[in-house]
Amino acid sequence: MSKNTPEYYRKYHSGQKYKNYKRQYRQRPEVKKREKELRERPETKEHERQRSHDYYLRAKASRQEYAQRPEVKQRARENSKRRRQSPEGREYQRKYLREWNLRKRYGISAQEHREMLSRQAGLCAICLEPMAEPFTDHDEIDGRPRVRGLLCLGCNTGLGGFRDKPERLASAIAYLVGHGYRHAETPGASIRGINA
Ligand SMILES: [Zn+2]
Repeated sequence: MSKNTPEYYRKYHSGQKYKNYKRQYRQRPEVKKREKELRERPETKEHERQRSHDYYLRAKASRQEYAQRPEVKQRARENSKRRRQSPEGREYQRKYLREWNLRKRYGISAQEHREMLSRQAGLCAICLEPMAEPFTDHDEIDGRPRVRGLLCLGCNTGLGGFRDKPERLASAIAYLVGHGYRHAETPGASIRGINA
């Protein structure tokens, strides 16, 4: 039906009238009460929950299907390459990826990492020599990473070689001393009283 005809207006306004009746009907206290009761029935709630869960699953499936399309995949690859190669992209990577990696692997922020490095004055926590590249030494407590300190490559690898076990390290010291090893020349050893 085309607009601007008397029939159209009649039909439209009768529709509006019907809508108004419906609105007035739903304003009645007993109707309001019944609708509220219906809404609060456990099966209604369960139905709503199921419906929103179905919606979530459908949306997820369609999102996955979209991401799997060859042209979408190709575009994503190109975008990511462009981002990686642009100066802003590199800046982003430097800042946020580092933050993310530290958080995920060691459970600390980049700020905490910097503070730790400045507390150690840029020196390895074991041999107390300047670190070319600090390695984040950590163990796990209840499945969560806990950072012990920053170590140089040698000390970090050394700890790993001894499986992070103090008894093995003590045994190694006894072994070296037993084979005639005298004083350690490293500054760290004397500070920690190992030579006593
Ligand atoms: Zn070291």
